[in-house]
Order: sequence, then structure tokens, then C-alpha cells
Amino acid sequence: MSYQGLIHHYRKYLPPIKDENIVTLLECNTPLIHSEDLSQRTGLKVYLKYEGLNPTGSFKDRGMTMAISMAKEKQAKVVMCASTGNTSASAAAYAAKSGTMKCVVIIPEGNIALGKLAQAMIHQAKVIQIRGNFDDALNIVKEVTDNHPVELVNSLNPYRIEGQKTAAFEVCDVLGDAPVFHAIPVGNAGNITAYWKGYNEYKAAGQSQSLPKMLGFQAAGAAPIVHGHVIDKPETLATAIRIGNPASWKQAETARDDSGGLIDLVTDDEIIEAYKILAAHTGVFCEPASAASVAGMLKLNQQGFFKDSQGATIVCTLTGHGLKDPNNAIKVIDQPVTVDSTMDAVLKEIGL
Ligand SMILES: *Cc1c(COP(=O)(O)O)cnc(C)c1O
Repeated sequence: MSYQGLIHHYRKYLPPIKDENIVTLLECNTPLIHSEDLSQRTGLKVYLKYEGLNPTGSFKDRGMTMAISMAKEKQAKVVMCASTGNTSASAAAYAAKSGTMKCVVIIPEGNIALGKLAQAMIHQAKVIQIRGNFDDALNIVKEVTDNHPVELVNSLNPYRIEGQKTAAFEVCDVLGDAPVFHAIPVGNAGNITAYWKGYNEYKAAGQSQSLPKMLGFQAAGAAPIVHGHVIDKPETLATAIRIGNPASWKQAETARDDSGGLIDLVTDDEIIEAYKILAAHTGVFCEPASAASVAGMLKLNQQGFFKDSQGATIVCTLTGHGLKDPNNAIKVIDQPVTVDSTMDAVLKEIGL
């Protein structure tokens, strides 16, 4: 039978949901792309888990198909989330698909990438911007959903993590086992938590033999786990990981410590460098936050971290699509040249 979406595919590893309540856009089953270029740069065998190819352009669809289906099962009429952008895009789309639920999203004013805002709006979510940051938005959502008949679909919702853990299953299904390393951006830290859970459950079920070392990367201006304290005013151009007080902080530390991995930081310059390398030399366009995984791998490589692991397999999660944030791409690349409309002028420009 053709692919029927995440819940059908990995049903026996997920909480039970009645068929009629499953809300799916046939998400996931995303490609694991081998990068010759990055393998050459590091001496590793580098694979990119390209989550930008999900229906709304980010991995958030994994958790959202679960969270919205469970909300439907509970006969919720309204779902709500705080978002740096991708969660709201995904919640809005899945609420629209449900046919029964309205979606309310709270976002920090002025810090949402254009594509993500466009998604939430066109899917007809009620979009409320606050004069505050993501952490403020999440506090408001928690208060509302604690006291009113509204389902919270942020990653505090345990079904989000359940859906997201399937990314680790997909990696194992393609590689035949877990990789030696798994590099991933860390914002609210739900995703690193979910991958670690997924790798462990798959091994326990006999579907894989080993566990990866989890390598998490925060942006330098938003690195509370690395510094060991809340960051009041997180700053980074990678808006999807601009978070000062991660909801899954403790679980991320557990993933780091139990896997023998690390959580480190990468600067905005390192993120942009990796973002450009990925697009120019592997042909994969991801959003800036996503490139933190590759930026982190390249930074560790320069420090000699992988010198005893040459040839080892590493998977870098690319969390979202580059088209989410086109303004950023145009800003960091030279502008196109303009010439007269003659063949000579064009040939001269090409250098022929
Ligand atoms: C949500 C998101 C992240 C951060 O994931 P967490 O689970 O919050 O750590 C990273 N990149 C993109 C594109 C995202 O949408």
C-alpha cells in the first residue's frame, strides 16, 4: 500500500489513536541525503536528514500530526501554541486539515521569518503578536491552556515528542543501524529529546543495534544549556533557535550525558558559513537554524574531535527549509549583476 503518513507507518511505537481521528498531510519519510562535499571536509560519512521536505517545510509536522490527532480524539475545538514560526505554521496547517479545530498562535513581534508568518496566516490561524520574546509567548500560552478548554500543542505536549521520535526510526531504517554521531540544532530542546527517545526505543525493540552520540548545537547568543543559566534576551539570526529558557532543558542534558555526546555553541557567522556551504556544495537549501548542526560538526572537526573516528557515520538534522526565510538568503549572498540585454554583455559577464 502507498505511504499513509507517520502515524500509520509507525503505529505500534505510538500511543493509540482511532483511525477517524488521524489528521495527516502524509508527512515525514524525508530523505537522508549523503553529502560527498561534507564527507570530504570531515573524513566522516555525512548524511543530511532533510526535514525541510515535510508538508509545511519543517520537522514540526512530525509532532503536529500526533498532537492535532490527539486533540481531535479529545474533541478539542481550539488548539494553541507559542512559536518562533515553524510550530505555528504546522499547527495552523494541521488544524485546517482537521476540519474541526481552530488554531491560535502567539508569536514574538518582528522576529518571525516571512515564510512562516505567511503560512500561519494563509491557513487562517488567529495570529497574535506580542511585544516580547518566545519565552514570554510560551508563558502566556501555558497560562491560557491551563485555565481554559484549549489544547496546548507546543512541545510541552508529550504527543509532540512521540511524533518527533520517529525521525530516529527513519534514520535507522535507511542506514540499517543508528549512526555513530547525530548532530542537531537545539532551541527548545524537544527535538534532541525526541531523537534520543527514538534511538533508545528502536534499539530496545531490536530494530537497531547501537546508539549514537548526540551532538547538540545552540546559537552563541542563545545558549542557555551551554552556559548553564537562562538567557534573558537571546539573540541570533537563527530565529528558530532563539530561545533563552528551553522547555526540555533537563531531557536535553540527559540525552547529552547518557549518549556520551555534548551540547556546544556556534556563532551566527559559523551558522551562515555552513548555510552557504550546504546550498553551494551539496545543493540543499535549509533555514539558518538548521545549519547549526552542520556548523557544529565543522567546528568540532576543526578542533580534531573526529580524528579517531574517520569514516564513521554522522547524521546532521536539517530542521527546516531555506524558503522559509528568503530574506536571509538574499542578505548573505552577492546581488545578481545587471547588464545590457545583448548576448555580448552576457558572454562578457560569464567570461566567455
Ligand atoms: C523548532 C525548530 C528548531 C529547534 O528545535 P527544538 O525542538 O526547539 O530544539 C530548530 N530548527 C528549526 C527549523 C525549527 O523549526
